[in-house]
Amino acid sequence: MKKFKLRRILIERGAEDDTLAKKMLKGLPDIPREAVEPDDLAQREDIEGMDKETLRIIHFNGEFLKPCPGTRGYICCGYQILNIGINCPMECSYCFLQSYINQPSLRLFTNLEDRLNVIGKIIDSSPDRIFRIGTGEFTDSLCLDYLTGWTDLLLPFFSRRRNCVLELKTKSASIEFLIKSSYRKGIVIAWSLNTPRIIANEEQGTADLKSRILAARECQKAGFVLGFHFDPLIHYPGWAEDSEETVGLLERYIDPGYIVWMSVGSFRYVPDLKWTVKRRFPGTDIFDGEFVPGLDGKFRYFKPIRVEMYTKLSERLRKWYDDLGLYLCMESDDVWTQSLGWSPRNSTNLTNYLDNRARKLMAN
Ligand code: SF4
Repeated sequence: MKKFKLRRILIERGAEDDTLAKKMLKGLPDIPREAVEPDDLAQREDIEGMDKETLRIIHFNGEFLKPCPGTRGYICCGYQILNIGINCPMECSYCFLQSYINQPSLRLFTNLEDRLNVIGKIIDSSPDRIFRIGTGEFTDSLCLDYLTGWTDLLLPFFSRRRNCVLELKTKSASIEFLIKSSYRKGIVIAWSLNTPRIIANEEQGTADLKSRILAARECQKAGFVLGFHFDPLIHYPGWAEDSEETVGLLERYIDPGYIVWMSVGSFRYVPDLKWTVKRRFPGTDIFDGEFVPGLDGKFRYFKPIRVEMYTKLSERLRKWYDDLGLYLCMESDDVWTQSLGWSPRNSTNLTNYLDNRARKLMAN
């Protein structure tokens, strides 16, 4: 299991008595620690460097469960985000957090356990609704499990509810604790995938492609349902041939009958991100393509390039198996139709499509 380097721990006032804080501190006896005030301004100085070797332990007073904000003018999937922390110890050059967060460090919320009651009440009060919930939007769901024990806490809590699916999305191969858990129902373990070149050049500190797929195979053998996310697709000469390597490994190791969904999305970014990334990753060539501003102000590849990428990849995936629950992330109706040959037309229909797949999963 990969462990990440930490050089100091900042314990925000109010977090010191949280169970998860005590557990993490016990597991890191040799790391220097200091008590700090919440949101002290001094910590903002290294925002550009992200300061991922500082662990900040926080008693979070905000909302833990929130709808994914989606993006204006595009079809979104109705996902709910379980906010367990912000930032992760890996380094993807394209990571949107570099322009999204306004405070550095690895920020983990240690009162999660106390707040599960509130989340449970929200879920239980709408028994006819399906909650598709993920922890992997603002951090990686599994790479810190050795420190946080998130799977120990979350699997029993979500697995016993009949109207929700918890998706743990990762770029790691840290499945040791997960596999030991006895909970499976309603749990999806999902990997973000890319071409071997993008993983090697643009996703520092993550597990390599084969390790991710072998970890997925282990999870599948252990009875977990899987999800995969080809996101962000990055266009470069040879990307299609390189994608073949990724799909080939899936074909070789994964049983497609137990995949609940698979999303495809292309690289998109808010204008500010570009300059931060260029400073932090001077060698990157992720901005070399032809980008245009979209309806939401984010830059995306010129539409014909997106359509070409989605069409080629989806055709290849469907050749492998034609019921993978393929969907596009934050795309328009016409891009859906041109790329996949159908469109949900709006966010409500895409939500229903994915909810139905989740229902099928829970019925098994
Ligand atoms: S794994 Fe996700 S959260 Fe971590 S750096 Fe990469 S994109 Fe950002």
